[in-house]
Amino acid sequence: MGEFKVFSRVLTYATRRRFEVICITDDVEKVVAESGIRNGLVLVYVPHATAAVIVNEFEPRIAEDYISWLRKFFPPGAGWRHDEIDDNAHAHLASAMIGSSRVFPLIDGRIVRGTWQEILLVELDGPRSARRVIVEVLGV
Ligand code: ZN
Repeated sequence: MGEFKVFSRVLTYATRRRFEVICITDDVEKVVAESGIRNGLVLVYVPHATAAVIVNEFEPRIAEDYISWLRKFFPPGAGWRHDEIDDNAHAHLASAMIGSSRVFPLIDGRIVRGTWQEILLVELDGPRSARRVIVEVLGV
C-alpha cells in the first residue's frame, strides 16, 4: 500500500443564467486521474453561499426540472427578509438546503457512482464569472 496523499485542484466555471445546472463529472474525474490516487475519498466542495452541488441524472429535461423545483420551493422575491440586502435570499436558502459539498468513495481509481449519478454544480444566483469548485482527493 502506497503513502497517504492529499491532492487538490480548483475548477472554475462561468455561469450565464440566474439558475443553471452544469455537469462537472468529467472535470472531477480528470482531477482524480491527475492525482494518481486510486483508493480513498473524493470531496467536491463549492465555496459559495449561493451555489450548490447535487448528484443525480443530467439530461436537458431533468435539468429544467431541477430549476422548476428550485423556483417552486425557493421562489425568488417571495418576501424573504434577506432580499432587503441583496435580493438573493432564495439562493441562500436553496444552497443551505441542498448543501455545498458531496463526498464519493474512490475505489481502484474510479469514483463510485450509479449509472444516473452525475456530479452537478447548481448556480442559484447567476450569472457569475468565476464559480469555484474545489476537488480534493485523499487516499493512497
Ligand atoms: Zn445575499
